[in-house]
Parts: sequence; C-alpha cells; structure tokens
Amino acid sequence: MSSVVGVLALQGAFLAHQQSLTKLGIASQEVRTPSDLEMVTALVMPGGESTTMSHLLATSGLFAAIDSRIKAGMPVFGTCAGMILLARGVLDGRSDQTSFGAIDIDVRRNAYGRQVDSFETDIAVDGLTDDFHAVFIRAPQIVRCGPEVTVLAKYRDDVVLARQGSVMVASFHPELTDDTRIHSLFTGLLQEV
Ligand code: GLN
Repeated sequence: MSSVVGVLALQGAFLAHQQSLTKLGIASQEVRTPSDLEMVTALVMPGGESTTMSHLLATSGLFAAIDSRIKAGMPVFGTCAGMILLARGVLDGRSDQTSFGAIDIDVRRNAYGRQVDSFETDIAVDGLTDDFHAVFIRAPQIVRCGPEVTVLAKYRDDVVLARQGSVMVASFHPELTDDTRIHSLFTGLLQEV
C-alpha cells in the first residue's frame, strides 16, 4: 500500500506542511476527525497554538485515536506547537493543556523570550551534508531529553531536532522554507516501520 501522510489540520500551519510533502511527491491528507486518521500511515502535527490544538483534539475525539495509533507505532512528526503536543512534560503550559507523552522530552513554551520571539539561524543536522536554515517562531525550548532520545540538531546548547523511535520533533518550522530535507528525514521513517 502506498503511504499517505496525514497532517493534523485543526489549527495552525498545516498547509505549508502539505506543500513540503507534495514537493517530495508524497500524498497527504488533512486530518480533522478520527475517520480521517484511519486513512493515513503517518502524521505531522504542525505549528500553531498548542493550547487551542489540545482543546480541539479533545473535542474532536482525535486525542484518543491519535494516542492509540502512536502507541501502535505510527510515525509522527511534531513541529513547534506540534512538538509541545508530543512531549512528555510541558512547562509554562495552560493547566488544562494535555500532551501525548510520545517522546521523553520536557519543553518550555515560548521560552526564547520576547526580544527573540522569532529568529532564523543555520543549524547542522545529523545526516545532512549542508546546514539547514531553521525558522523559530515563539518556539518552545527542549529543557530535558531522556536517555532514549536521539539528538539530531542543536542551536547553541539547546536540542532543536530529536527523535525517539518513530517520533520526531523540531522546535523550529522546516515547512516554512523551500528545503524539504527534514521532511525527507521524517518520511524515511516510514520505511523503517
Ligand atoms: N507558542 C506556541 C504554543 O505554545 C507555539 C508557537 C508555534 O507553533 N509557532 O503553542
């Protein structure tokens, strides 16, 4: 069966992810309901507002459906707010915000401070020959990485791209550049499962 990558489309920057996947020749499907989820083999969780997405995940019935697919090994890639949703611990979150705990990291929301709310920088990424231009927008910071987590890139001392099994997270927005190499790293996981 050919792979269809779902993009969580409750809120946020899901269209840009679909465009990156299209550039790679990969079919994508917007996921808003549990029945949409049944049609996909992997899922991207975009940037946006994690508190809003957390609320919509609960009301749409998607939280439980995604949780059981992740536990069954579905590859999933969370960027920025999507990373917050996948983290084990969320600091400076709203008290009613929930996360999947799919990767053993703790993140702090909006951690890079007001002056540098948004910034761009070139980072070295494990497995890529040339640097990747990373766009950070009110980015969460990974403040703890568990022993099972593989670090794929750092900005200064902070881990900004990481993986645990078939779960990958980025604190920046690879979908906002023309460069599809990070999406390729993720879709490469589809061959592994
Ligand atoms: N600060 C946002 C949140 O907490 C994430 C920002 C983003 O996804 N660009 O959800």
